[in-house]
Amino acid sequence: MAAKLMVGNWKMNGSLVANASLLSEVLAGMGGKTCRAAVCVPAPYLAQAQALLAGSALALGAQDVSAHEAGAYTGEVSADMLRDFAVRYCIVGHSERRQYHGESDVTVASKAQRALAAGITPIVCVGESLAERDAGQTEAVVKRQLAAVIHTNGHCISEIVVAYEPVWAIGTGLTATPEQAQHVHAVLRAQLQAATPHADRVSILYGGSMNAANAADLLARPDVDGGLIGGAALKASEFLTMLKAASR
Ligand code: PEP
Repeated sequence: MAAKLMVGNWKMNGSLVANASLLSEVLAGMGGKTCRAAVCVPAPYLAQAQALLAGSALALGAQDVSAHEAGAYTGEVSADMLRDFAVRYCIVGHSERRQYHGESDVTVASKAQRALAAGITPIVCVGESLAERDAGQTEAVVKRQLAAVIHTNGHCISEIVVAYEPVWAIGTGLTATPEQAQHVHAVLRAQLQAATPHADRVSILYGGSMNAANAADLLARPDVDGGLIGGAALKASEFLTMLKAASR
């Protein structure tokens, strides 16, 4: 298995001034870290982040991509446009997109396909709501979400990254226990194994209130290959502590 992958999701936060200061602090503290790392910035800041990250060990990511190739889709950003800014990773199917923008499993699968076609690694988010967990539907939900992506992208499914993000843990301060995370990650790994002989190449990240205090325990589980980090990625010292935990 490759080195752990730690990805910051800035969501709709930042400014030219704040980004410059956050990235310079993170880059200054990154020396010697051996995990893979990236930040997914808001689209208007891709050019700024591309310039600041050039030649560094911190890769550039986007938070969404259009399911369409090009054309009359006002407000959307295509995978080829992201590629123009040297974007390496793109989050698709984040629960906030599924919830607030009505993205279906099929749309998420198309977005992953567009990213892959442009040479961008999609970070495919899956996760259950609290009601679904309480109803014992966690496995069924995440398997349904991943199955759509496998169905559309089966031939290159080993090129994706998966992020297990229980919806009830995102931005709430509630975190899945390492056991809960490992259990779901193992389910997802088995599903990938049934689809490709190269399932071990797929990094399965955990996301949901991961922070400097709980990262090491989560990352110690065998199928937790890294983290997708929201709030805690906006604080340089906290993000750096997590990169350190992932580099052990
Ligand atoms: C996320 O936005 O993907 C996320 C996991 O957020 P937070 O870490 O703030 O829960």
